[in-house]
Amino acid sequence: MLKSIFNATMYPKELRALLKLKYWSSGLRNPYGGYTLEEIGDLPSRDFCYAILHKVSRSFAAVIQQLPEQSRDAICAFYLVLRGLDTIEDDMSLSEDLKRKMLNEFYQYNFDPDWNFTDLQFEHDGYRLLLSKYQHVSAMFRQLSQEDQDVITDICKRMGKGMSEFGDRPINTVEEYDLYCHYVAGLVGIGLSGIFAQSGLEDPAIDDKKELANAMGLFLQKTNITRDINEDVLEGRIFWPKEIWSKHVEGTDFLIKEPFENGLQALNAMVINALSHLPDCIEYLACIRNSQVFRFCAIPQAMAIATLHEIYNNPEALKRNVKIRRGMAARLILETSKIEHIQRSFKHLILKVIEKVPADDPNQLEVKEHLKWIWHEIDARLANNTTTANVEGLN
Ligand code: CA
Repeated sequence: MLKSIFNATMYPKELRALLKLKYWSSGLRNPYGGYTLEEIGDLPSRDFCYAILHKVSRSFAAVIQQLPEQSRDAICAFYLVLRGLDTIEDDMSLSEDLKRKMLNEFYQYNFDPDWNFTDLQFEHDGYRLLLSKYQHVSAMFRQLSQEDQDVITDICKRMGKGMSEFGDRPINTVEEYDLYCHYVAGLVGIGLSGIFAQSGLEDPAIDDKKELANAMGLFLQKTNITRDINEDVLEGRIFWPKEIWSKHVEGTDFLIKEPFENGLQALNAMVINALSHLPDCIEYLACIRNSQVFRFCAIPQAMAIATLHEIYNNPEALKRNVKIRRGMAARLILETSKIEHIQRSFKHLILKVIEKVPADDPNQLEVKEHLKWIWHEIDARLANNTTTANVEGLN
């Protein structure tokens, strides 16, 4: 925190945001943040779930914790079920056969009060604990309404099947890239819409906007995939589609090798591909009515666009995992309570990306035209939407 405050002194608005956010979050009741992993293991099921959530994703723990009660348990269980599934997908030590079987069966484990998995080689202690005490997650799942259980089961089943279909298969075309991201993230957006529609917090019609909900997931997933390139190349797992990188480099190893010129062109193409989902995301956000649900959906989106802006044409992003400044993140969190904030800050960041388009990019005109289309489309989608989020802001 001290270091962030020091860095933020160069950005006075960020400093103010950091302090304000610290004040705001200290007022939020979060009884689950202080446990050690050993202590978490002995908690009753529901407490275990909220405490482990804090260990596997602090940012999601915060946005989930602030959700209204009607949907909080369902979203918490949904997140943990999918985190469990994803941990199986990511464990490189499991045999292909066992992994495929587990991914396809995973949704059934929620109905088995005894199922857990203790053979995980994954190095993250929180993920290991999540799976070794999975009976707590399944117990919380079975406490949910039948409707919520049905949504989670449906999504878990489809996601596990999709993950097992991809397995070791390389992602060649942009179409395959979109399909993979649909399985691992678009389905999350679709499931969340289902839960929010059922909870009564949102108009049931939100459940019909599947394309828009899918785009919400794709935008976040593509941001992570684009940002994590260095780590993924070193681990030998590439999610960038060959159709994009092969126009610039001979093989993915070259993406993270000096002099980075060709790698940068590929990186920029990946960023633009991700940004193309922005109009759909805005249109989705404009349909949300509840203030906490709005924040839950909008904060990760705001972080993602800031990340994309940060890594665009930035050679550092090929060398390491570039993160946005904590002060900037704080500002985004505080300025994410109304659709008008989102509209303003997203348009601002798109203009800043336009300024960053390199003059020697052979496609610079085309890229700028596309970014301008996104910029205009943000307004156009909002003008078409009459629902305005009824949000009591933090500001
Ligand atoms: Ca994964």
